[in-house]
Amino acid sequence: MSGSCPMCGGQLVMKQVDYEVSVGPHQKVIKVPAFVCKKCGERVYTDEADETIKKLEEEMGAIDQEF
Ligand SMILES: [Zn+2]
Repeated sequence: MSGSCPMCGGQLVMKQVDYEVSVGPHQKVIKVPAFVCKKCGERVYTDEADETIKKLEEEMGAIDQEF
């Protein structure tokens, strides 16, 4: 991944950001690594963050199926 924002071309910096995962009535806020644009604040999630989010969504979705 290169260091420029897809929206404005600004510089991206790696940060831990809050990400709210919501599946149905369930909500959880987690910290994930993402590149954040210094100019416009656009977030570009890393592959690691994407996986973490997907896994959590699956886990949270699975909770519903047990009931
Ligand atoms: Zn930007």
